[in-house]
Amino acid sequence: MTEKQFRSGFVSIIGRPNVGKSTLLNRILGDKIVITSDKPQTTRNRIQGIHNLPGCQMVFIDTPGIHRATSKLNKYMVDVALSSIKEVDVILFLVEADAKPAHQEGMILELLGRAEAPVFLIINKIDLVAKETLLERIAAYAALYPFREIVPLSALNGDGVERLVELIYGTLPEGPAYFPDDILTDLPERFIVAEIIREKVFRLTHDEVPYSVAVVVESFKERADGLISISATINVERESQKGIVIGRKGEMLKKVGMQARLDIEELLDTRVFLELFVRVSSDWSDNTRMLKEFGYQ
Ligand code: GDP
Ligand code: MG
Repeated sequence: MTEKQFRSGFVSIIGRPNVGKSTLLNRILGDKIVITSDKPQTTRNRIQGIHNLPGCQMVFIDTPGIHRATSKLNKYMVDVALSSIKEVDVILFLVEADAKPAHQEGMILELLGRAEAPVFLIINKIDLVAKETLLERIAAYAALYPFREIVPLSALNGDGVERLVELIYGTLPEGPAYFPDDILTDLPERFIVAEIIREKVFRLTHDEVPYSVAVVVESFKERADGLISISATINVERESQKGIVIGRKGEMLKKVGMQARLDIEELLDTRVFLELFVRVSSDWSDNTRMLKEFGYQ
């Protein structure tokens, strides 16, 4: 095939607080939108933002485990941190140019030693240091870990950010767009809505449907009269699961839909029309597993 294949992947951004993770993400995503997930409802949702480019979709995720793990590095935190760096395609490890590598960076690097994905060292805030200092930092960090790339930049003024995006692009595998490209504007609501539907599926089907179910909100439209029309797909892996979710004469799906709709109406504070579909997509299982890892289900 001569045509360029679509690329996609998950990019995790890690580093101590205040190194500039949010600033960098804002810079990459531009004014389009940054999805802030500090709402309590979205604590499980670590997806921070989606960058759609021609032929490419980058899904940026946050890894809360690692930066919280810095003071008390207990096993649980290590596990959390590891699970969030395990199945990503690229890891961006952010540090500050105006500080030497310290104990905390060392601990994070120790964790990264077990990551499979390539790790880019992002030396941020280069606007604050002289060139010699930057070169010192690069040498000091390069001695600590076999970084795939070392990218000095300033998230604040944008220097070096474009190059970073190109390097990320070059690292991502071929793959589908995981999210529709209009999803940016209402992502938090969509996530919560998907989560509510998923929860109803579990609650009502008990243990018959495994955790690999993925709910995807396909469209989310506000009509002129204020009613919000939502359609969502419940992806399951096998025909048998589809049967369970739909139920006899569609009873189960009806119940799921009704209970979910009531919760969503409460959440959005408006009337909702909710349309649900059930689809068997075995190739979803991989994506699903991955998305689940990151709290998106
Ligand atoms: P996070 O905690 O890692 O998400 O860090 P933030 O993105 O919130 O940034 C922490 C502080 O560093 C903020 O005051 C930013 O304005 C500042 N900052 C971020 N990137 C840069 C940079 O490239 N240069 C300078 N001088 N300051 C930066
Ligand atoms: Mg932040």
